[in-house]
Amino acid sequence: MTTTTRTTAAARAVGVSKFYGTGDAAVAALKDVDVELDSGRFTAIMGPSGSGKSTLLHMLAGLDRPTSGEVYLGDTQITKLNDKALTLLRRDRIGFIFQSFNLLPTMSAAENIVLPMRIAGRKPDEFWVQTIIERLGLSERLRHRPTELSGGQQQRVAAARALASRPQIVFADEPTGALDSASGTELLEFLRTAVHEFGQTVVMVTHDPTAAGYADRVLFLADGHVVDEMHEPTADAVLDYMKHLGA
Ligand code: ADP
Ligand code: MG
Repeated sequence: MTTTTRTTAAARAVGVSKFYGTGDAAVAALKDVDVELDSGRFTAIMGPSGSGKSTLLHMLAGLDRPTSGEVYLGDTQITKLNDKALTLLRRDRIGFIFQSFNLLPTMSAAENIVLPMRIAGRKPDEFWVQTIIERLGLSERLRHRPTELSGGQQQRVAAARALASRPQIVFADEPTGALDSASGTELLEFLRTAVHEFGQTVVMVTHDPTAAGYADRVLFLADGHVVDEMHEPTADAVLDYMKHLGA
């Protein structure tokens, strides 16, 4: 008997379509999309505004459901789960970084970072959490509330929160969109470190070729379709390709 080992993708979409609205007002945001996102890699999803990037991320992350098709997180078909099970799966297995940080204003940075784990009743791995806090340069900022932090610091707190539980996958939607370029660079370097040194899996939506240049692989979306991909991208190569897409 032979045993074949097949590496399971961190996440997968199979024939995923998403329509918003009905009848004449219906918008097809995704059209029969198949994607596989590898574990231990940094993938960027790139495309013009309105091409379906956020919609694809929301489907992959179980934040919304496709109109048709299947989504898997590892071996789990999340499109089969009921709302309660999906909420628990998101809480326990997925990390999120949003453009607008989404920190709780009444809590300190330290409290924000471990909040999802506290809610889940899980004990944070102190060594791991300390490691990411130090890597993010947040050690001196832990007692501060979000309003006492710069945008860059707030997003680094959000990144620490996303990674605190060592989730199976981290999704980021335009994480540098609200940051100045120096803060954006720090965040992107951290995400790359999280993947290459700490073995995390990151999937980032961006419309910025410079940000996509930090990824290991870029998927290009246009008009609800995955139209191409690029491995070991550079910012220049991504920019050239986007011009070709007419973005
Ligand atoms: P991107 O993130 O690439 O800018 P989106 O995924 O946000 O694109 O949107 C893809 C398409 O779906 C766009 O035409 C957008 O207007 C539409 N869309 C997105 N969200 C909604 C919604 N909640 N209701 C109606 N249309 C939507
Ligand atoms: Mg978007």
